[in-house]
Amino acid sequence: MANEKEMQANETPAECTHNCSTCSANCGSKKQSMFEAINPLSMVGKVIGIVSGKGGVGKSTVTANLALTLSNMGYRVGVLDADIYGPSQHKMFGVEDYLPDAVQEDGQDYIVPAVSMDIELMSIGFFIQPNDALMWRGAMATSALKQLLHQTMWGGLDFLLIDMPPGTGDIHLTMISEIKLDGAVIVSTPQQIAVADVVRGVEMFRHEQVNVPVLGIIENMAWFTPKELPDNKYYIFGKGGARAYAEEVGVPFLGDIPIVQSIMEGSESGQPSVGVDAEVERYYREIAQKIVASL
Ligand code: ADP
Repeated sequence: MANEKEMQANETPAECTHNCSTCSANCGSKKQSMFEAINPLSMVGKVIGIVSGKGGVGKSTVTANLALTLSNMGYRVGVLDADIYGPSQHKMFGVEDYLPDAVQEDGQDYIVPAVSMDIELMSIGFFIQPNDALMWRGAMATSALKQLLHQTMWGGLDFLLIDMPPGTGDIHLTMISEIKLDGAVIVSTPQQIAVADVVRGVEMFRHEQVNVPVLGIIENMAWFTPKELPDNKYYIFGKGGARAYAEEVGVPFLGDIPIVQSIMEGSESGQPSVGVDAEVERYYREIAQKIVASL
């Protein structure tokens, strides 16, 4: 039986204007829903796209390590793996066997993200077999991504990092038109060929019709220091190309990350390296602090 307070709350006011937005009475005709009139993404603070001009430069690895660093700094973090042609975040966070649940709210289906190390994770990789990825093209990939963007039931995030596919194609334009990206972080290796692709990435985000702030460039695999020669730095992929370009075009340089065995091992074992290697964590924390400060 309803108590007095509940009965008052359910009473229809004498003069009902039928305009719930201006009425303070809680008469029951006003529907309370977590998702009422909002897209689940509106429960997300800042949305950051992690991008690269080409594949293999460490974009997904950087996304995973950056996410864990932000989480260790006390932020609520989610990762959306939109790298349709090579989803890997579910592996990097050790949840490749996760089968997403669907829940219904107001007749609308929502997908429940995985949670690993306090990070909420949704990946196109939960829905496709590894060999299928190559067959996903244009409209099919775009509509799957739209679904993940709009129907993932994020639990309230400070940051959502989106691991974008490499390059500057249709998927990027879809993402940009579907959601408001608060910024893009570009990952590159130092050598010139990668840097040429970075130029295209920066131009796309800076284009007046796109207008997404480029928060900065991260130079990954910047050098290698063998354990037995701790004072030596070997610039295997060239030296400082991304840093020089960032300075040239006036984009912040967020920092460089060396080639470290634990980073590669972390990607394979489902435990991003920043969680186990203090040296790697230091590089990432510096970068994460710059990103937070720029938003
Ligand atoms: P992308 O997402 O750009 O295609 P990945 O993040 O999948 O690239 O990285 C490609 C490979 O390089 C992976 O095996 C990853 O573990 C490794 N890797 C990335 N960054 C580093 C690094 N700084 N040190 C060592 N290995 C790295």
